Amino acid sequence: MKKFKYLIPKTLDEAVSLNQSHEGSAIYVAGGTDVMVKIKSGKLAPDYLISLKHIGVGSQLGVNRETGALHIGGLVTHRTLETSSLIRLQYPIIHDAVQRIGSTQIRNVATIGGNLVNAVPSADGAIPLIALDARVNIYGSAGERTVDLVHFFEGPGQTVMDRGEIVTEIVVPKQPSRTGGAYQKFGRRAAMELPLIGVGVLITLEEGSNRCAKARITLGVAAPTPIRTLSAERYLVGKEITENTLNEAGKLAAEESRVRDSVRGLAWYRREMVEVLVQRMGVKCLQRIKETEAL
Ligand SMILES: Cc1cc2nc3c(=O)[nH]c(=O)nc-3n(C[C@H](O)[C@H](O)[C@H](O)COP(=O)(O)OP(=O)(O)OC[C@H]3O[C@@H](n4cnc5c(N)ncnc54)[C@H](O)[C@@H]3O)c2cc1C
Repeated sequence: MKKFKYLIPKTLDEAVSLNQSHEGSAIYVAGGTDVMVKIKSGKLAPDYLISLKHIGVGSQLGVNRETGALHIGGLVTHRTLETSSLIRLQYPIIHDAVQRIGSTQIRNVATIGGNLVNAVPSADGAIPLIALDARVNIYGSAGERTVDLVHFFEGPGQTVMDRGEIVTEIVVPKQPSRTGGAYQKFGRRAAMELPLIGVGVLITLEEGSNRCAKARITLGVAAPTPIRTLSAERYLVGKEITENTLNEAGKLAAEESRVRDSVRGLAWYRREMVEVLVQRMGVKCLQRIKETEAL
């Protein structure tokens, strides 16, 4: 493994300026669970690793009292999300995803920001956050900007971020009442497995009925980036959520996916699992809405 220097900036601006002064030979590192694998395999050979762990921003997790939005710092670990009662009780779709990322050891250090920037089609952290209409705050030499997460990914390993930019936080807008969400990654093993498919469903019901006011159906490993399936979402809006309408939405989501054959599974099987899981996650959304109302 090639030797590198490990730099520990103490502020956001120091991190950005270190990156600029070592342009092309430096890479940011948070938990290092993706970076170190790539360095060990020879895919990356930086001269400098710039740690983001001590820059004083990005580790917060909480709800803004004025806006009701959930703020997740870019350096928050999956384990922090998994063990947060706020996430478990109010954002179970995020909890479903993070509790099955890697192993406890991986989740203890791996961050949500790293998961997004690594930008693999299977990124478990991304799929529920897209369903929740999350936005990403990014900081760089040109200042701060905000990008809708659904537009953040450009291809495998590629995002809209410019060189040297840092994900400071992810902001999830306050969800309407009567909203339920659920996520499942499906693979051949329960843990430490790249999924065959990942399915997130988020449904908001109209007051006093089972009619759908808003729907999000998001997929991982179904295209070169995590995606929303707009035709399936549009189909559900205005309809009663029943087994039949969820089945139909599952079919539409499967048609809209761009799944491929791979060593882990064939496209036809992935499509079938999209259909099945959209239906199952939809039912789970209804259960969760009912459970919240019963509290
Ligand atoms: C054994 C194992 C199992 C895994 N299982 C899963 C799994 O089940 N599901 C899953 O989705 N992933 C999985 N992963 C992948 C990985 O753990 C996640 O993608 C993790 O969230 C990456 O976070 P990190 O902090 O370790 O990123 P790092 O490795 O530190 O960084 C990853 C990339 O993001 C950049 N980066 C990191 N943070 C920032 C930031 N705040 N701003 C700008 N750039 C940044 C780095 O420069 C690098 O390019 C697994 C990895 C391993 C090794």
